[in-house]
Amino acid sequence: MTSPASLARPVADEGILATTLSQFHSAADAIGLEDRYRAYLTSWKTVFQTQFPVEMDDGSIKIFEGYRVLHDTARGPTKGGIRYSANVTLDDVRALSMLMTWKCAVVNIPFGGAKGGVIVDPSTLSARELQNLTRRFTTELEPIIGPDKDIPAPDMGTNAQTMAWMMDTYSMAHGYTIPGVVTGKPVAIGGSEGRAEATGRGILYVLQEHLRADGGLAGRTVSVQGFGNVGSVAARLIHEDGAKVTYISDVHTALHNPDGINVSAAYAHVGRGGTLREWAAETHGATEVDPAEVLTADVDILVPAAVESVLTADNARQVRARLIIEGANGPTTEEADAIFEERGLTVIPDILANAGGVTVSYFEWVQARQYLQWTEARVNEELQRLISTAYRAVAARAVQMGPTCTQREAANIIGIERVVEALELRGYYP
Ligand code: GLU
Repeated sequence: MTSPASLARPVADEGILATTLSQFHSAADAIGLEDRYRAYLTSWKTVFQTQFPVEMDDGSIKIFEGYRVLHDTARGPTKGGIRYSANVTLDDVRALSMLMTWKCAVVNIPFGGAKGGVIVDPSTLSARELQNLTRRFTTELEPIIGPDKDIPAPDMGTNAQTMAWMMDTYSMAHGYTIPGVVTGKPVAIGGSEGRAEATGRGILYVLQEHLRADGGLAGRTVSVQGFGNVGSVAARLIHEDGAKVTYISDVHTALHNPDGINVSAAYAHVGRGGTLREWAAETHGATEVDPAEVLTADVDILVPAAVESVLTADNARQVRARLIIEGANGPTTEEADAIFEERGLTVIPDILANAGGVTVSYFEWVQARQYLQWTEARVNEELQRLISTAYRAVAARAVQMGPTCTQREAANIIGIERVVEALELRGYYP
């Protein structure tokens, strides 16, 4: 099998698609993956692109561009977030959909990978405009998504409210409420307890598992980049588990306190609608530093949990943390990854580290389809079970493959093997 020409076109050298494909090929090389699987796994089932009108508050009509890309369905319906960002590109969405395939396979949940995005800076839109945009984009997606086909969720720039509008729009078109069409909904309309915190909590569980034989998190110093849904929860839970979080940052402000930041207090302040800068000024809990310092800080553990491609050839040699755990999708470029490997740093890859979100999305989907609600304790317990099992499988596979195998390569290998197994069992249609 060969890749169709339109999808096999060359991709830019830098950027997350090139990185994702190259990571795929090195894992495929390590297990001697047959060419026919390689071609299959580097093609995309559906690449959907739309330009659609949205009525703005001043009565004007603005055209927006959006994408939804389904990578693979061998293990089940496709799953993955929808992001609203001015920087969304179709190639990024293709890459992120492939990462979702491996991510779902690594935590062993019955989904393939998908991703979507709209080119928009959501902070420039009013709530009404965001709702109009979401409802129209959902209408365009209607033929593709569905509880048995493709199930969106929040990602950068989207949240539970976005999912509520998507669920409602899809349900209106069908004439009855269909809670299983999206995950990450508010709990009041079929969302899951624990979903909002799940990605950050998954990072905590993976770290605990990684450090289990080595004294745990207590007393370690940590730097967390990003204070959105992933970074803020991860930082708070890591702090509450006894580590010293000495750096945190959001898009505007980077904060440092050598004695450890009271992240619970910062989290509560931001939860009330405040900013990190105000919090630091009011409490004198930390001083402002150059944002670049957060990544090269003198700490034990670095958690990049903001956006992709922040660890690059330019700063990888300055990174002082010996352990990097990826909260964002694709924060490490290929060049940086090679430098970390050469320097003997450990990178726990995105497709394992931040899989807590999609794992609890799976629980939400299961609950929605059974019309029942799990307790938060049960959600967290099941999350810990799945993600810790995944961590141990990846760590064991890395050891088995030998000293040059990184955790990223091991995670990719497990993802690829599980998808190939499903493919083989199902066979090719017709
Ligand atoms: N957007 C999240 C991710 O990148 C969650 C996806 C989901 O819950 O489906 O993993």
